[in-house]
Amino acid sequence: MKTIATTCPYCGVGCGVLATVDATGVQVQGDSEHPANLGRLCSKGSALAQTLDLKDRLLDPHIQGQRCDWETALNKVANGFKRIIREHGPDAVAIYGSGQLLTEDYYVANKLMKGFIGSANIDTNSRLCMASSVVGHKRAFGADSVPCSYEDLERAQLIVLVGSNTAWCHPVLYQRMVATKKRNPGMRVVVIDPRRTATADIADMVLTLRPGSDAMLFNGLLSYLDEQGECQTPFVENHTQGVAQALLAARETAASTQIVADVCQISLKEVETFYQWFATTDRVITVYSQGINQSSSGSDKVNAIINCHLFTGRIGRVGMGPFSFTGQPNAMGGREVGGLANQLAAHMDIENTQHRQAVQNFWQSPAIASKAGYTATALFDAIAQGKVKAVWIMATNPVVSLPEADRVIEALKKCELVVVSDVMKNTDTAAYAHVLLPAQGWGEKDGSVTNSERRISRQRAFMPSPGETRADWWIICEVAKRMGFAEGFNFSSAADIFREHAALSAYDNHGRRDFDIGELQHLTDEEYNELRPVQWPIRQGKGTSRLFADGEFYTDNRRARFIPVIPQAPKNKTSDDFPFALNTGRVRDQWHTMTRTGKVARLSHHHPEPYLAIRAEDARQVGLVEGGLARLVSRWGAMVGRVKFDHGLVRGQVFAPMHWNRVYASEGRVGAVVNAVIDPYSAQPELKHTPVRIESYQPQWHGFILSRRRLRIRGASYWAMAQGENYYRYEIAGEQLPENWPAWARSMLCSDGMDINWVEYLDAKKHAYRGVRMSGTQLESCVFIGPNHDLPPRSWLAGLFAKPALSAEEHRGLLIGKAPVGEVDAGRIVCACFSVGINTIEQAVRQQRLNSVKAIGQTLRAGTNCGSCVPELRGILAGLNSPRG
Ligand code: SF4
Repeated sequence: MKTIATTCPYCGVGCGVLATVDATGVQVQGDSEHPANLGRLCSKGSALAQTLDLKDRLLDPHIQGQRCDWETALNKVANGFKRIIREHGPDAVAIYGSGQLLTEDYYVANKLMKGFIGSANIDTNSRLCMASSVVGHKRAFGADSVPCSYEDLERAQLIVLVGSNTAWCHPVLYQRMVATKKRNPGMRVVVIDPRRTATADIADMVLTLRPGSDAMLFNGLLSYLDEQGECQTPFVENHTQGVAQALLAARETAASTQIVADVCQISLKEVETFYQWFATTDRVITVYSQGINQSSSGSDKVNAIINCHLFTGRIGRVGMGPFSFTGQPNAMGGREVGGLANQLAAHMDIENTQHRQAVQNFWQSPAIASKAGYTATALFDAIAQGKVKAVWIMATNPVVSLPEADRVIEALKKCELVVVSDVMKNTDTAAYAHVLLPAQGWGEKDGSVTNSERRISRQRAFMPSPGETRADWWIICEVAKRMGFAEGFNFSSAADIFREHAALSAYDNHGRRDFDIGELQHLTDEEYNELRPVQWPIRQGKGTSRLFADGEFYTDNRRARFIPVIPQAPKNKTSDDFPFALNTGRVRDQWHTMTRTGKVARLSHHHPEPYLAIRAEDARQVGLVEGGLARLVSRWGAMVGRVKFDHGLVRGQVFAPMHWNRVYASEGRVGAVVNAVIDPYSAQPELKHTPVRIESYQPQWHGFILSRRRLRIRGASYWAMAQGENYYRYEIAGEQLPENWPAWARSMLCSDGMDINWVEYLDAKKHAYRGVRMSGTQLESCVFIGPNHDLPPRSWLAGLFAKPALSAEEHRGLLIGKAPVGEVDAGRIVCACFSVGINTIEQAVRQQRLNSVKAIGQTLRAGTNCGSCVPELRGILAGLNSPRG
């Protein structure tokens, strides 16, 4: 048995994980010594061990769908890139990377493109995540510096959460805030979001402002702080510049709190209370995330927030500051190595001649990119236009995640050479690859990541690499060597690369650049392996919790800059044809495009299908019913999802999750619907606002299948698949009626030709069909079809797959889809950690008169592990205790 300390591969919190490997498999638990999580894990992190099987793993290199050896695949990539560069120049090739890559992988990818190929055409899915924060930081501080630490969240007196569903997207930090608020009830939390989310559960005030009006709110705040005499004059005079212009812009655009209230569509009292709390509280921390960044004016929104902190001097001290939560586990590491198309390595600037010279000298490289390359959306446009002829996509799934995602497909179809490095073989993007390269997954690879608080942690291997999988850094270096760049890529380990990365951070630095981990450049392999989590910059053997404590910034004159902000509405406006504003985001239990979390049964039940959330009043106006299907349409594409009423949305808004893809649903990619409008400074797409219409999708029949085997669904115009314990769940619907229901069902469920033990019921007039197949004493599959979506509940039926033999009552209940008397259908899963369903919770609350989340936890265990479902439990209690409940 061995226990290895490593880091969670999902969100930007960067939790420490202890992975214990023994003869029975792998167990994970939170690392109580890791400063990011102090032992906690969320539902996704707790389920990491269930993602480690080899199902659907890419285990060998492939060319045009045929397995091949590494030599052939590497030569194919290297020769393809070389030929295209020779014929069309270095800007005709590109890399599209990911915040899932480890820093060492990112470092060599960036080195290859910018220093050896000589083009800056390397961008990353982090462009979709926090590029606006990078711009905001650089404009204000002169460097991409995050000033705060997680510890500050526990020392603050007021936490302002803007555009951040922290409860679902950064759950462990949310739990830290919950615990702090319990200890210190005087601490206030303000949640600012057009959608009332689970995060509102700890809020003292929720501002459900008009989508996109955040800059107005913070301009108004700046103006208010000035009027109230809250300027920290010594700090502003001695350590900042540009305050007059920023104040002028704020006063002109947000002339009064009433105007702010009108524009943001919140009450005057709410605006005034928020402003008063901010003005009168010393330790204020403003957390912002994708709700701010994913906007056509995201950079300005970031600076509108930072302006207020600079004005009050609330930066660089305990419990205060503007704090960007990154989405991905290594978005920050990517920024450190220059993984964005407009950066150089080690926080150096591509437009700066001295920086270019320094990087080239350090690398001893034949070239250095002299101008910014294509950013994410522009890159796929350039591929479509034939300007970029070879692209290497690493650890990301742009066919799902990029806006106007159908155009990404068209671009890849036209591209001469598409190389995809991934751990999974069946991603939506892999379908368009000429060359597929099998990468090591979490638990197999070795390197480092940096979380939202600048903390570098090691991801350590604790399992052998399966099949022919290799480390991303190894694959990149081998291609580089075959392109003739052996001298720059003779690395023998991740530690080797880390040492060079650390040395570059100190090269020609002299305290002028924030990112400095030069003291780690001489780590031995053993010391690298033992490296404890540490926050950069590292000076005199110590990490740094908080930046700017001395009031010195990284601009030329060391003064922070105020940025005048003119609030902008979202670029594309709603109209009669597209009257709703689409907002996109995460759900609690899934990660990105579900390639890993989609495999875990207990993570699939909270939201088993793509859905479209809408206010009930809006839904009824356009003829939608809860639980029915709807089609979401924009000028760029369409998707289909299950209708879910959500009173947390403001009127005119629709929310759809970002995760679903063609592996898990027929038409669930919201990326196909989203506009590719970008912020002019950060090139970050406006994923939070697309004009759409939503219309009822009315197929002729609805149904579901539960099956022990994975199926190829036939004859359905809509399907969505979720993984259960011992079964797969398919929600299906069709626009055409099959000619013969029994034949249709058997073609899928008895494809082995054995229709033995097949029991069925058909009412052709009512389009009602049910079929059940047993295999010995076990349930093998069942199918339920009806004219509308009102079908038997799935949970009880699904539970039968875990039974070695069914009772006579269960047999009888099967075809009618009804649990025997005394058995409860658990309903949709609320607590993923202990698989507790909504029906079980509601029944327990009613029958046992449970009146608190604690009582539910004591009775059912729900909410007692990661805590992510606690806001929902509170909502259930409130609903049942309301007059109608
Ligand atoms: Fe992983 Fe983020 Fe959950 Fe921590 S909060 S366990 S880093 S997904």
